[in-house]
Amino acid sequence: MRMKKQTVEKHDLHVKTGDRVIITAGKDKGKIGNVKSVLASENKVIVEGANMITKAVKPNPMAGIQGGLTQMEAPMDSSKVMLYCSSCEKATRVKHEVVDNKKVRVCKKCGEQLDV
Ligand SMILES: [Zn+2]
Repeated sequence: MRMKKQTVEKHDLHVKTGDRVIITAGKDKGKIGNVKSVLASENKVIVEGANMITKAVKPNPMAGIQGGLTQMEAPMDSSKVMLYCSSCEKATRVKHEVVDNKKVRVCKKCGEQLDV
């Protein structure tokens, strides 16, 4: 039996669920989408509409699932996405600022708040 390799190290990714990101590498380069979920332990993110794969789904009449082939997003390396600033209309880096005692992320280029 093969042991599953465990990573105890927890990464803090530069993006989080709901962020608007632009893809900087791979077949979806240049695509902009929202982060659907973050797999911090694997350093991966799932971006809406990006890195689509076709997956076979088993029919499950109880759940109303017909089965067949379905398109879904596959996790991709977090290094392939950058935060997207809709104000600059560019990929950007963020800096952290404290506004009203709350930590917010702002665009390094235009100062626009990214946490809304
Ligand atoms: Zn900006």
